[in-house]
Amino acid sequence: MSGLEINIVTIFPEMFLSPFNESIIKRAIEKGSVRINILDLRDFTHDRHRVTDDYPYGGGAGMIMKPEPLSEAIEKINEKAPSRVILMTPQGERLSQSKAGELSQEKRITILCGRYEGVDERIREHFVDDEISIGDYILTGGEIPAMVLIDAIVRLIPGVLGDEASAREDSFSSNLLEYPHYTRPANFRGIKVPEVLLSGDHEKIRRWRRRESLKRTLDRRPDLLEEIELSDEDREILGEIRRTKT
Ligand code: SAM
Repeated sequence: MSGLEINIVTIFPEMFLSPFNESIIKRAIEKGSVRINILDLRDFTHDRHRVTDDYPYGGGAGMIMKPEPLSEAIEKINEKAPSRVILMTPQGERLSQSKAGELSQEKRITILCGRYEGVDERIREHFVDDEISIGDYILTGGEIPAMVLIDAIVRLIPGVLGDEASAREDSFSSNLLEYPHYTRPANFRGIKVPEVLLSGDHEKIRRWRRRESLKRTLDRRPDLLEEIELSDEDREILGEIRRTKT
């Protein structure tokens, strides 16, 4: 199959039905750009109660996801062909646009959704390739983080977004925040759209947008500016912005 195959391992498979049945992801699935397989972790248990968690060794609060069903699920997925195994965990690498871009180029990925206090450490150590966090806060399970990750990845698969430029210009794609957008009416309750956007002068519009993008990044996320290679024009614009601020 061409496109990306995503396997999700979860104890709540039904949580994924609605988010993948709308809009861009739905169309990406229909076009064959992505295939999403949802695996119920309980199908990899062998006891009558289909148990996937157990008490922690050493005592303490909460339950831990057992290693056997998780390892069997991963092995079943990888039987056909290897896949890059990602564990959703708040202890992982913070998700970024560049990480999503890197994963969008894979052929097969497998996402493990944790629950309770997380997964047995031996799974993390011996079966997982990447650990990804969606931010410095704790959610009740890995399903919503997995949806966030999948959404970020799928829109970067070539051909998924109608207008390729829209992904290129999104905030973070070039490590800058995106410039502001306006649509009709030109005058909304007395608040006017910046004149330059109505001018039809493409060069002026391009420069205005670059300026707004740099200004916004400088105001809100100056840390990002340290990571990009600025052009001569960028440096000149930033100089203007800094002068008008003082
Ligand atoms: N006790 C764990 C810890 O302190 O690292 C947190 C467990 S959390 C309640 C349950 C599961 O939700 C995790 O195993 C993980 O799969 C998922 N999760 C929670 N917050 C997350 C985040 N910020 N990013 C990615 N996954 C997260």
